[in-house]
Amino acid sequence: MRRPRDKESFKEFDYVSKIHRHEKLITQIPGNLPKVALIFPNNYKVASSSLAWSWIQQLLANKGVGVQRFFYEETFKRFYSMEEQRPIDEFSIWLITFQFENDLKNIADILIKRGVPLNVLDRADYHPLVIVGGPVNLFNVELITDIADFAFVGDLECSIDEFSNALLTEGKSKIAEELLKIPQIYSKAYGKKESRNCYANLNMVPVSHFVTPFSVFKDKLLIEIGRGCIRRCAFCVTGYTKKPVKFAKVEDVIEVLERHKDEEVGLISATITDYPYLDTLLNYMEKENIKFSVSSMRVDDVNEKLLKLLKATDHQSFTVAPEGISQRIRDIMLKDITLEGIISGLSLGHKVGFEEVKLYYIIGLSEEETDDYDELFWFIHQLYDIGYRKVTLSINPLVPKPKTPFEDRKMIDRKEYEEKITYIKKNLPNKARIYAESYKESLIQYQISRLRGEDTIDFIEKHFMKR
Ligand code: SF4
Repeated sequence: MRRPRDKESFKEFDYVSKIHRHEKLITQIPGNLPKVALIFPNNYKVASSSLAWSWIQQLLANKGVGVQRFFYEETFKRFYSMEEQRPIDEFSIWLITFQFENDLKNIADILIKRGVPLNVLDRADYHPLVIVGGPVNLFNVELITDIADFAFVGDLECSIDEFSNALLTEGKSKIAEELLKIPQIYSKAYGKKESRNCYANLNMVPVSHFVTPFSVFKDKLLIEIGRGCIRRCAFCVTGYTKKPVKFAKVEDVIEVLERHKDEEVGLISATITDYPYLDTLLNYMEKENIKFSVSSMRVDDVNEKLLKLLKATDHQSFTVAPEGISQRIRDIMLKDITLEGIISGLSLGHKVGFEEVKLYYIIGLSEEETDDYDELFWFIHQLYDIGYRKVTLSINPLVPKPKTPFEDRKMIDRKEYEEKITYIKKNLPNKARIYAESYKESLIQYQISRLRGEDTIDFIEKHFMKR
């Protein structure tokens, strides 16, 4: 690829190529003429920690579609692909994976910087075809329908043949015609205002095709062993939108591990401890001395073997999500976990050698009372009594989401949130660390999650565009 001449573009080009050089390729992606830009609208660390970015590329490339990956940085202006550092303007189809509501700002920024009108109806034939998929569509597809030519709802595996055949067609109108035949496609612009969701089984175990030191799963091969969640926490869309839950067969996961014995792995699932064949998998990984991390686990379901194996990898800190500040609040949140279960899991964690614990909490439910906060303060003292040296709390305001039992709730206001944070800081032991999530970012997340149709572009213009 020819290097850009101007200084600013070269800097961006150079940054992307340096990041790419740090990726260790595990599986070769079939080469082809580039056609589809697979855009993860967040920075490289977030993009490379998501198996979707790699897996979608593999699914399409294996069907003969030329796909290159893109990520987002606020400073980027031209956007270069990972694989060949080609500018995004050379790609006629932009496939965006919409994983988090707040990425809407980045999606808009890419379109605006590359001269693509935000409103799909204002685009000309020479503009790229913009297709948006990802988890946000599962709970509010109408959020993106004025920006995307097509929204894809559900798992790509369900209609990979039809989807890739459509992308392989030549000409915008022909591609559109083929896409409209797919039940998972929704398109306000083309008059298809209904779609049928589909969840794939995990007969083919999703595995990333590269590892990188910049991922949250540092240098680890990502393997998805479960999709969806058997739990129904009232604040979480995963438990309500990805149904029924699918688990990969343990023999298939082991077959993947056999192929990649030299790699450390990151096991991906909503909660790894709900994987029905976990014991068999752990026995195999222990026997083969495979080091691994997990995306998330339930503290009341951990066992000594799992914790010891995690500790043997590079886990210094035990991460736990009690979410509610007291048992009463956890019950309101439908977080089916008990105080005894949490304490017992944390005691086991300390027994196997963990000295640091990180706890995730959600505050701002209207039912909270002083007694609930007292229980939180008591609980944190217990952790020091158990023997933990370092205790960190990550506190987030409740963001009530559509399609959940909390859908009709309102977010706590800023003043009350800040007062609660101050109160927590005042009453916790000085040595406990507290990270409070930004109220502004959470409020934006709440507002975006409820946008529909033309409201989305109005919101972008009001909140994200410099006047
Ligand atoms: S256990 Fe985790 S992923 Fe499952 S519903 Fe609760 S918060 Fe969501």
